[in-house]
Formats: sequence, structure tokens, C-alpha cells
Amino acid sequence: MSLAESEKQIQTDVLILGGGPSGISCALECADSGLDHLLIERSQNFGGQLEEIPGPIPNMPAGSFYASGRDLSFAMLEHAQSFGCLLRAEVEIVEADLDNLTLKSKDAVYRGRALYIAAGARYREPSFENQERFKDFIHHRHYVDNHHFEGREVIIVGGGDSAFFAALAKAAVAKSVTIIHRSSNFKVRDDIRNMVEADPRIEVLANREIASLKGDRQLEAVLLKDNDSGRIESRRADVIYAKLGYVPNSELFYNQLELTASGHIKTDEKRRTSKPGVFAGGDIVSPGYDRISVALGHGSLAVKFIREYLK
Ligand SMILES: Cc1cc2nc3c(=O)[nH]c(=O)nc-3n(C[C@H](O)[C@H](O)[C@H](O)COP(=O)(O)OP(=O)(O)OC[C@H]3O[C@@H](n4cnc5c(N)ncnc54)[C@H](O)[C@@H]3O)c2cc1C
Repeated sequence: MSLAESEKQIQTDVLILGGGPSGISCALECADSGLDHLLIERSQNFGGQLEEIPGPIPNMPAGSFYASGRDLSFAMLEHAQSFGCLLRAEVEIVEADLDNLTLKSKDAVYRGRALYIAAGARYREPSFENQERFKDFIHHRHYVDNHHFEGREVIIVGGGDSAFFAALAKAAVAKSVTIIHRSSNFKVRDDIRNMVEADPRIEVLANREIASLKGDRQLEAVLLKDNDSGRIESRRADVIYAKLGYVPNSELFYNQLELTASGHIKTDEKRRTSKPGVFAGGDIVSPGYDRISVALGHGSLAVKFIREYLK
């Protein structure tokens, strides 16, 4: 679809992709400095990953005043709207032409004089052999009701903080918990690792990965491959909880921007990407440090350099 063929064409000074903390912060800074802008978000709600945070947020200033991430996102939205930010929900961008600073949804074309990409990140989904057959016994999102784990033999896949946190939480209700990690390189805080190691209900198996899933109507076992010896062993399992970290939502920009090996957008200290007029911040950029305060800071800082660029 070219610009001329499109149904709707929308032009603004600063086009913002993503309605999480970083995008909202950028929109606020634009509104505050009188810059024409438009923020586009595919979900019905603004807030991005804040929607997934179940409780108060202790590592963000004032975060503990909100009962949950969703509450915080409502407050951010209300504030942004009261400042006159232009926000548009339920618009999914499906194509990007960064040479022309243009984003396309299925029925409109958005063009900015500058673009701020704050499309964030999402859970990395597992992919096991014959996964589709057993999909009801495999979970990976943050909110999973405990009844899926009660009295069950639980396999947790992953080697980071969230896998170890999940093991501690599920051990309280499960029959057994086994953490499987494909290498021996665990990226876990010492305090959490010590708690897991001290818990007799949790077993940790390094250098193993799931080769295949077994069962009739429901999951009954996993075949584990030992990555050192290549040996395969079977282990009883009723349910798998995959905590494999996050991937950046950067697919739209493959072949258009310089990305890191992990798919994060490379930026400099002025939040500039490898393309003139295209800026990025929050969880989609590298070096990745996925924190609300960082995402907010990036959004705000970007506007300073976008203004310089627009001059
Ligand atoms: C369970 C959980 C707990 C967390 N706990 C904490 C914590 O305690 N403290 C902390 O500091 N951080 C925490 N975080 C991390 C924090 O939420 C993120 O760092 C922050 O949300 C990143 O903000 P962002 O704006 O960069 O991206 P996101 O919040 O990911 O927002 C990106 C937005 O872009 C939209 N988008 C993406 N692609 C498109 C497209 N093609 N078209 C339109 N819209 C699009 C998405 O729908 C999304 O709304 C947690 C995250 C999770 C999941």
C-alpha cells in the first residue's frame, strides 16, 4: 500500500508507537512543550506491560501508592489525557517504512516528522516438539491460576530470576517442582538462588532441555536431553511452566534499523537509532534494562533530542 492509495493519511510532528510507560512519557513531554504528536497503541488499554503487574511496584518512585500496575497505568492515562496528549488505542501497526517516517495500520497511514518507537517487549513463548497437542498443559504468562499446579508434578523451564521465583511460588501448592535449564549458566539473584537451593521441594537440573512431550490425552512425561552427554531420560510431568524471559517487539524494523543479536534496537545516548528521525526507548532498546523508570526516562529524554532534530 502506498501513501497515495491509502484510505486515511495522518500527519503529525512526533509519531509515537506504543502506549506503555515509555510512549506515554514521550507524549506527555511533547504535550508539555507544545509539540504536535500522536501516540498509537494496538491494545484497548494503555499501559503496556503494566497490565501484568499484580501488586504495588516497590522499585519505582511512588509505585507503592498504586495497588497494581493496572492502577498505575490508569493514573498515567488520566494524567496524559488531562494534559491534552493525543492517544489512539486499538490501532495495530502492521508495516513500517522508516525512510519515510511512516507507519501503516490496516486502514490508515501515519507519517511523522520524527518517530519515537516504544513498542516494548513480550513474553518469549516456548516451542517444544508436539507442543500443540499438549498446549493446555503448558503455561508461560505471568498470571496463571494456581489450580493448574495444585498437587501436580511441575516442570519449570528457564534459568533466570522469574523461573526461580515461579519455582518458589509453585512449590507451595505442587506435588513436586523441577527447574530445567539448558546450560549451567543461571542468571539468578543470589538471595533467590539460595532460597531455591534450601527448599527440599525443588530440584534444579542444569544442561538439560525438553526433547519431547509424552502422554495420551494429557501430559504425562517429558523426555529430557542431557546437553553434555546427549543422553535422553524420561521424567514424570503433569504441567510445564516456561519462564523464558522477554523478546523485543522489533519485527517491524528488521532490515530497517540496526539491531543487537537479541533483536533490540540499537540507540545512542540521544535515543537516536541508525535511521535519521527515528528514536527509540524503553524495553525495545539495548542495552536492555527492563524497568518502568528507565522506560519513562527514555520517553522524556527523547523529546529533547527530537526537538533538536526537528529544528
Ligand atoms: C509481570 C511483570 C512484572 C514487572 N514488574 C516490574 C517492576 O516491579 N518494576 C519495574 O520497574 N518494571 C517491572 N516490569 C517491567 C516493566 O513493565 C517494563 O519495563 C515497562 O512496561 C516497559 O515499558 P515500555 O513502554 O518500554 O514497553 P511496554 O510496557 O511493553 O509497552 C509497549 C506497548 O507497545 C504496544 N505495541 C507493540 N507493538 C505494537 C504495534 N505493532 N502497534 C501498536 N502498538 C504496539 C504494546 O501493545 C504495548 O502496549 C514488569 C513486567 C512484567 C511483565
